[in-house]
Amino acid sequence: MPPIINEDICTGCGICAERCPQDVFFGSERKKPPVVSFPEECWHCYACVMDCPTEGAITLRTPVPMMLNYK
Ligand code: SF4
Ligand code: SF4
Repeated sequence: MPPIINEDICTGCGICAERCPQDVFFGSERKKPPVVSFPEECWHCYACVMDCPTEGAITLRTPVPMMLNYK
């Protein structure tokens, strides 16, 4: 599932958009919560979640078939 931004606590720092190797947040503006422009491109690497400085501002759910691949 693509990332979900909690706009109530996101500071708009843009780090998640910078880290994303897939340009999922393409076109997002600085100092605003990022826009998930290409959700289908997310490969669930978790770079955006791990590097977000605001806990809970961005969350991700890994699809069940991918979870099984990790086993
Ligand atoms: S999990 Fe990875 S690919 Fe998906 S939006 Fe975050 S940084 Fe981009
Ligand atoms: S890294 Fe976190 S706080 Fe910064 S823009 Fe992304 S979701 Fe918002």
